[in-house]
Amino acid sequence: MQHQPEYMLGVDIGTTSTKAVLFTTQGQVVAQHAVEYPLLCTTPGMAEQDPLQIYAAVLSAIQNAVSSSKVAAGEIALVSFSAAMHSVIAVDQDGALLSNSITWADNRAGEWSNRIRDELDGHAIYLRTGTPIHPMSPLCKIMWLRHDQPQLFGRTARFVGMKEYVLYRLFGEWLVDHSIASATGMFNLQQLDWDQGALQMLGISPQQLSRLVPTTHYLSGLAPAMAQQLGLSSSTPFVIGANDGVLSNLGVNAIGPGQVAVTVGTSGAMRTVIDKPVTDPAGRTFCYALTAKHWVVGGPTNNGGSIFRWVRDELATAESAAAKEAGLDPYEALTKIAESVTAGAEGLLFHPYLAGERAPLWNADARGSYFGLAMHHGKPHMIRAALEGVIFSLYSILPAVEDLIGPTTHMMATGGFARSALWRQMMADIFEREVVVPESVESSCLGATVLGLYALGKIDSLDAIGGMVGATHQHLPIPENVALYRRLWPIYAAIPKQLEQQYRQLSQFQRETAVQVR
Ligand code: ADP
Repeated sequence: MQHQPEYMLGVDIGTTSTKAVLFTTQGQVVAQHAVEYPLLCTTPGMAEQDPLQIYAAVLSAIQNAVSSSKVAAGEIALVSFSAAMHSVIAVDQDGALLSNSITWADNRAGEWSNRIRDELDGHAIYLRTGTPIHPMSPLCKIMWLRHDQPQLFGRTARFVGMKEYVLYRLFGEWLVDHSIASATGMFNLQQLDWDQGALQMLGISPQQLSRLVPTTHYLSGLAPAMAQQLGLSSSTPFVIGANDGVLSNLGVNAIGPGQVAVTVGTSGAMRTVIDKPVTDPAGRTFCYALTAKHWVVGGPTNNGGSIFRWVRDELATAESAAAKEAGLDPYEALTKIAESVTAGAEGLLFHPYLAGERAPLWNADARGSYFGLAMHHGKPHMIRAALEGVIFSLYSILPAVEDLIGPTTHMMATGGFARSALWRQMMADIFEREVVVPESVESSCLGATVLGLYALGKIDSLDAIGGMVGATHQHLPIPENVALYRRLWPIYAAIPKQLEQQYRQLSQFQRETAVQVR
């Protein structure tokens, strides 16, 4: 019998770093390496990255992961990619860079995003493309470039994303997978092709974008010198893969009917998988491709773990410093303080819109607030209410998702927040569902490799992930807490609906008076 390669390499090109993880074909981590790079934010709203630095990080992450594993090139069955969504890079005829990578976090297309939505029938574009009209999307960014930087726009032969640039450097072809494409705002979900109406609005042709391929497309024939540098073989197949959000669902085994993955890292998202693309008549959700038969529907929140960081650094400064002094993790110390108060923080509510909000409000002007402050409230209430507010905010995305895909039953919690038992329990109590924390390291990398196995015909179905991911924690709703949250939820939900005008007025005031944008 011919010897089968035993290992697979997942590469996740993220916003803060590129991670390469070498797994066995059973999903066990053998070696990993991450290389970080900065976000360039020198003018208000700007959030760019240097594509050359990221390309170098990809090479270095792969090289280090492979070399530290001591696994021979011939033992590696595949490399497969995950990448952050929504990036735009302008390149010329020869593939030379004309711009940095403008990331999802860049807000400079804000005004154009409003105009596309309000004046250019953006909702119809969203319904066809599945990407909410928001400054994060390449659609809005290219429109902004066209009007704000006409010279650059005129010189640009192609607009590409970060993963496209990396693959071009490795294989000399401009290719984009359906998954990254489905998060550009320019990809027609029904036709699986660039959307004519969107491109017309932008004044660009399909030749100015990369060639579309399914997420299972793979390339081989890496130049021998490059293969040697990376510790791979020239014949190692490189699977193009998908975006990091949909691959994270796969990597935590949340691809079955009714399963929802909720990730709270710095920001957060709720995602679930369905077998065909769907968009929301009310425009509250995104729809991104994983494979032709797996589509990820969900909503992102701007305000996840960043809220707890804000509490740690701005609100509970003394408590955090004391924890540090005592050699404790400030997050754990603050969680203990929050635990001293009952569920519902004795009637204190916190709306976490410190960074505006995406799903389900899609309102960049939304602002945070404590509501219901009374004399009996102290810092422990404020800390607890902040953690509860993040979960209430995620919970408010659920109706939009369930309207589209039907009832959800299982919840998987991932990201930094899942380290906190209190926060996980709040999720079980507010969502009134069992919450499970999948045992998963680098879920997007694992998801990429499982998609890779499927692409190469080594597994028949993505369900193989089920055998690779166990669970570490499980939480059931506590009836007394559920009763308290049920009473508070309608009050919480009513507030942002009533404050739209005041949010706008106040954020305008903030923009005019802010001395320093933080
Ligand atoms: P990123 O999105 O940058 O990958 P992580 O997934 O590591 O970030 O999440 C970081 C967030 O996780 C922090 O902002 C914090 O809110 C939360 N967090 C980290 N450690 C803990 C902890 N021990 N308890 C509660 N929350 C935590």
